[in-house]
Amino acid sequence: MFENKLVLELLERYRVLWALGHASSLMGWDSETYMPREGVEERSIASAELSLLSRRLLLENIAPLVEKLVGVEGLNDFERGVVRVLWRDVERLRRIPENIQYELAKLRSEAPVVWREAREKDDFERFKPYLSRIVELERQVAELLGYEEHPYDALLDYYEEGLRDRDVRVMFSTLVPSIRRVLEKVMAEGYYPREHVLENVEYRREAMETVNREVLNILGFPWSKGRLDVSAHPFTIGIALSDVRITTRYEGRDFRRSLFAVIHEFGHALYNLQVDERLKMTPLAEGASLGVHESQSRFWENIVGRSRAFVELLKPILDEHLGFTRDYSVEELYKYFNIVRPSLIRVDADEVTYNLHIYLRYELERMLVAGEIKVHDLPELWNEYMDRLLGIKPKSYKDGVLQDIHWSLTAIGYFPTYTIGNILAAQLKNRFEADVGRLGDVIGERRFELVRVYLREKIHKWGAVYPPKDLVVKALGEPMNPVYLAEYIENKYSRL
Ligand code: MG
Repeated sequence: MFENKLVLELLERYRVLWALGHASSLMGWDSETYMPREGVEERSIASAELSLLSRRLLLENIAPLVEKLVGVEGLNDFERGVVRVLWRDVERLRRIPENIQYELAKLRSEAPVVWREAREKDDFERFKPYLSRIVELERQVAELLGYEEHPYDALLDYYEEGLRDRDVRVMFSTLVPSIRRVLEKVMAEGYYPREHVLENVEYRREAMETVNREVLNILGFPWSKGRLDVSAHPFTIGIALSDVRITTRYEGRDFRRSLFAVIHEFGHALYNLQVDERLKMTPLAEGASLGVHESQSRFWENIVGRSRAFVELLKPILDEHLGFTRDYSVEELYKYFNIVRPSLIRVDADEVTYNLHIYLRYELERMLVAGEIKVHDLPELWNEYMDRLLGIKPKSYKDGVLQDIHWSLTAIGYFPTYTIGNILAAQLKNRFEADVGRLGDVIGERRFELVRVYLREKIHKWGAVYPPKDLVVKALGEPMNPVYLAEYIENKYSRL
């Protein structure tokens, strides 16, 4: 796998950086799960110090060696991957001066606190100066990193290597009209209730936890390499190739929220767990990109988890542990898991409307970064877009412009990766069915091993060896194509 002498030396030097990353991930996981509340102050300082140390190690110890390897011929795919991934980091760090880096890091710890307060008090004015500064800095970052066509390109590329504004425009110009058509049809038919009774039925936390664990067993979650814990917002963290942790939440009612969070995070976890063993402790021991990662979670959550065949598997488990589901047929549960309706909050959105929420954020971000609008204009524009796309308008900031944490984390250019994930998940289903057979049958027969091996061979084992665009072509035989998602939604929701 790795033979070039310089690459081998590079990997040896990288090992310290990997160890720091390992420690930081574990600290990050702990902060969200078990750390006592007052541990936060010292933890933030410790994390910041470690990230500063990583930066120095990368620039002083790793960069000179990577530089020697850039453009060297005769490297194999794995070696080239190592050089590519590290060079991206080096270039970024070199182009962004330490003062900007430092201010962004500081904002990443301060702004979410202000954002949380602002959201609770429904006070946009409170968050405005922070967001304005973040946008200002991100616009500077775009200029420092450079771009060919649109400043947003520079920011997109950080979250999704090779992604350009041009790609995102094409993606949404196919998706948005098609989704809107399905949505109008679904709403006119009135098949889905405005509110489902099950959304308000209370469950016992212990019972729900048992359900979640049994579902993970069916999917094939390896407990010797993973954990399931509780956090305010569900997440997955890959601490190492043999130590991947997921979380969910227990709100006490509307049990699908806890369940589908688990299935979603399982998809992320499986990706990390199935990266080729031989890539461990290298910069390639991670997913290809955020979009490809999200395609794995969405594949399991929506394409597998929200299918009829899967609901049939779930039904006896739910009946045994939750009990109250006995009053509902498979068809009724299927409906509850798949209700389509325009809603204000992105994270609660169904498969049909979800990408409209992303499209709105994309348009606003793009205009902010181009300097065409100011942070001051956001609330009004947000409401206008909501009205235009979904036909509803938030009555408060917290149900509108203040709902997502991303901007407070200085993450501008991140949202489109969610839609990329949804598109690739639909595309993957199509490819799987052409290569293996009907997914519904495979699910019905509980042959999840087949799905896991397929994903491992096509995507997971490669880690970050290839840039996402190349991996997609290699795995799926063609570039990302939004038509697959449009067709999937059309088939599932407009032919009831
Ligand atoms: Mg996710």
